[in-house]
Amino acid sequence: MDLEIQILKTNTPKAKPSDEGSLGFGKLFTDHMFLVEYDEGRGWHDARIQPYGSLAIDPASPVLHYSQEIFEGLKAYRRNDGGLQMFRPWENANRMNRSAERMCMPQLDADFQVKAMRTLVELEQDWVPHREGTSLYLRPTMIATGAELGVHPAKSYLYYIICSPAGSYYKNGMAPVKIHIEDHYVRAVKGGTGAAKTGGNYSASLKAAFDAEKKGFDQVLWLDGRENKYVEEVGAMNMVFVMDGKLVTAPTGGSILPGITRKSVLQLAGDMGIAVEERPIAVEELFRAHEEGRLTEAFGTGTAAVISPVGLMEYHGKVMELSGGKIGPVAQSIYDTLVGIQRGDRPDPYGWIMKLS
Ligand SMILES: *Cc1c(COP(=O)(O)O)cnc(C)c1O
Repeated sequence: MDLEIQILKTNTPKAKPSDEGSLGFGKLFTDHMFLVEYDEGRGWHDARIQPYGSLAIDPASPVLHYSQEIFEGLKAYRRNDGGLQMFRPWENANRMNRSAERMCMPQLDADFQVKAMRTLVELEQDWVPHREGTSLYLRPTMIATGAELGVHPAKSYLYYIICSPAGSYYKNGMAPVKIHIEDHYVRAVKGGTGAAKTGGNYSASLKAAFDAEKKGFDQVLWLDGRENKYVEEVGAMNMVFVMDGKLVTAPTGGSILPGITRKSVLQLAGDMGIAVEERPIAVEELFRAHEEGRLTEAFGTGTAAVISPVGLMEYHGKVMELSGGKIGPVAQSIYDTLVGIQRGDRPDPYGWIMKLS
C-alpha cells in the first residue's frame, strides 16, 4: 500500500520552546499532524499532513463510548552530528497492527505507518530538541469514528500522529522509584486486552495509581489477574529483576504489553553474556531472594525512561530496599549501551536505527 501524503503547511508556526531544560513530557505539540481515514468498503484514504489542531468527530463516535482506540509511543533523536534518527519504528508499526487486530480495528500497512512517521518528523525537524536526553516523542493513535451507538466494531476510523518535544527524563539524575505492589486492583487478565496498547487499559489503572501516589509511591506493580501472585508490569513499563546474577522477567503471555525496550534490553543483556530468563516470578520469591541477598537490582523498561531503577518495593506493608537508592551496575551498563545506540553515539549492530538525515 502506498498512498500519497498531501502536505498542507501552517501559515502561523508556533514559537519553539526557548528552554530545552524544562520541556517536561506531553504538554507541548508541534505545528503539524498526520492523518489518514478509513471507511468500510473504501479502505484507507486522504492521507495528509496538516496544521496541528482540534478534531471534529461525531458525539456518537464509538471511541467516545466504548474506547475502541489504540496508540503507540516512540521517539526521534538528534545525533551529535545534528542529524536525526528513530529507534525501531517498524516494531511500533507492527505492534499497532497487533493491537488493531485485538480491538477489531483495520490494519494499516506497517511500511506506510513508518513512511508517515518519517515524513512528519522530517517536516518537523526543527522541533527535535538538541540537549542531551531530549527527543521528539511521537504518538500514533487510531480511533473509531462514525456515528452508531450499537456495540459492534465501527465502520470508520481515523489514524493520526502527533509529536511532542520531550525533556530529559533524568534531568535531576537517575532517582530510583518507589513501587507499591498492588494486591487489590488488577490491570489485565488472561484473554483480556493487556497485550494491546488500548486506552481502556490505562483508564482502568488510574484508581490504583492515584491511591498509591497518595501514599507516597511513584508506580504500581501489577500482579497477575488470576492468582494475584506473580508480578507482571508497572504502568507503562515492563519489569526486569537481577537475581543470582541473571536477568529475570515475566513472560509476555497475553496479559503483559510486549515492550520494545524490554525486547531490546533482553537482547543486549544476552549479548553482554548475562543469562536471561523469561518465567513467572512470584512476589514471595522476590522477597525471599532479597532477604538472602540474591535480588540485587530491579528496573522498569519503556520508551519514556528507557530504564527506571527501583529503589523500594512495598507489598502488604512489607518493604524491601534495593541498590542502596542508586542505579545498579547491570541496569547502568544496559542503559549506557541502549541509549548510545538510540542517540547514535554507539554503533548499531542490530539494524535498530532508521536514519532520517
Ligand atoms: C508502552 C508500554 C510499555 C513499554 O513499551 P515500550 O515499547 O518499551 O515503550 C510497557 N507496558 C505498558 C503497559 C505500556 O503501555
